[in-house]
Amino acid sequence: MPGSPGSSLADSEDRVTSVRIIGAGLAGCEAAWQVVRRGVPVTLYEMRPARQTDVHQSGNFAELVCSNSLRADKTENAVGLLKEEMRRLDSLVLRAADATRVPAGAALAVDRERFSAEITRELQSHPLVTVRREEITGIPDADGAGSPVVIASGPLTAPALSEAVRAFVGQEYLHFYDAISPIVLAESIDRTLVFRASRWDRSLRGADAGPSDSAASGVDAGVASDPAATPAVEDEGDYLNCPMNKDEYRAFYDALTRAESATVHDFDREQFFEGCLPVEVLAHRGPDTLRFGPMKPVGLRDPRTGRTPYAVVQLRQDNLAADHFSLVGFQTQLKWAEQTRVLRMIPGLGRAEFVRLGMVHRNTYLNGPAVLCETWQTRSRPDLFFAGQISGVEGYVESAASGLLAGRNAAALALGETPSAPPRTTAIGALAYYVSHAASAGYQPSNITFGIMEPLELPGRSKGDRKAALAARALADLARWMGV
Ligand SMILES: Cc1cc2nc3c(=O)[nH]c(=O)nc-3n(C[C@H](O)[C@H](O)[C@H](O)COP(=O)(O)OP(=O)(O)OC[C@H]3O[C@@H](n4cnc5c(N)ncnc54)[C@H](O)[C@@H]3O)c2cc1C
Repeated sequence: MPGSPGSSLADSEDRVTSVRIIGAGLAGCEAAWQVVRRGVPVTLYEMRPARQTDVHQSGNFAELVCSNSLRADKTENAVGLLKEEMRRLDSLVLRAADATRVPAGAALAVDRERFSAEITRELQSHPLVTVRREEITGIPDADGAGSPVVIASGPLTAPALSEAVRAFVGQEYLHFYDAISPIVLAESIDRTLVFRASRWDRSLRGADAGPSDSAASGVDAGVASDPAATPAVEDEGDYLNCPMNKDEYRAFYDALTRAESATVHDFDREQFFEGCLPVEVLAHRGPDTLRFGPMKPVGLRDPRTGRTPYAVVQLRQDNLAADHFSLVGFQTQLKWAEQTRVLRMIPGLGRAEFVRLGMVHRNTYLNGPAVLCETWQTRSRPDLFFAGQISGVEGYVESAASGLLAGRNAAALALGETPSAPPRTTAIGALAYYVSHAASAGYQPSNITFGIMEPLELPGRSKGDRKAALAARALADLARWMGV
């Protein structure tokens, strides 16, 4: 295989049509299962245990690197619906999770060792699966038999393969770090000091996300650039605005630029979205950089003074229940105690309780919309698929879900059939749609939410009604798509 020294992948290529999968994580294992249940052989490449990542600890497949929770399990919750759809699509990951679940209220949590042992045993003992414990260092070429390739090497993809992926997709379409903004508990925000408004009075429910998000993550802006993809959530475009006068801004700026950072990243050299730079890195560029970036006040008028504030911190609703708000454009890598101290200087956040603090962590992922089709094939090479966190999704369940569809479609290709994706009214189809259709500029991986599913034509009156209707429609449409 040209360009992949050290890999024996080329040697293993025989002339039967099989599927080659790189990475036996959540996505790769689910993909492998979906391929073999259609009678197509798989070669599954996994570099562990010989070569570990920074966080994996075992040689087992589908190791859960952090929490043991696959999150909510009821279909009134989007991730619960996604899991139910996966069960109906005969997901190995869900079967193993259901078999090894531990008590966790409304969530599906698992005994992590039994979970991953179950998946390892199932695949290793399958007659159509060949496991190769080796590191793959380049993107496999198309072989003579037309064997599709699925790259599912995860957020911690080994460096040589990362480089090869970067060369394939282009430098600007592979990202190596994620920056996360803090999230604050709604009830801890002092509403007497903040005001609710969208910039220029525009709402995200329209076709234009407006400038509110231009300095932030781009997730909402990305979906909103396609009117059909605009989230079906009321008040989505409304922000809580924390206004600052000149003195407050100066004091905040001084504190921010003097606060201690958790880790030092060289943001000039590392691949990082300009729109996702940590707020303190932006601040170090000059005293007014933030006022022209995430803290810009233009288009916002404080109803109590009738004037545009000197600077503004915007808070955006972060969940359907509206009890969490994230600080727009405030991704940060300050030490956590420092973050809390500095962020509580923001008017309205003096007693803020933080549900999550900001951080920067390693996460290799594609700019999905620039690279992928809804079928998880790459646009430029239809026999090459990406799945899992590297494809631009976020979370264990979402990673496995993308592997499920990539595996189904890789098998279809190997069998001479046409790859396809479920409709956007399903959670799994909505995820595929998001990854391939959100705006490419400022793209960020997303968890599944009801907001990225196709809105209902006749929304129910209450949130509960709407969720129930979305879930019922999703399961009916999935059944139709599956032909059952
Ligand atoms: C530190 C961290 C914590 C996380 N915590 C959570 C959490 O609590 N909850 C949640 O929902 N999500 C979490 N995620 C996000 C994500 O859901 C997980 O990373 C998930 O495991 C992704 O699944 P995957 O199949 O894409 O990748 P992985 O599960 O990482 O699988 C990729 C596999 O590919 C192998 N591999 C890599 N490079 C090569 C190569 N060149 N050749 C051969 N094999 C290779 C790896 O060894 C690994 O086994 C976390 C991510 C990180 C980085």
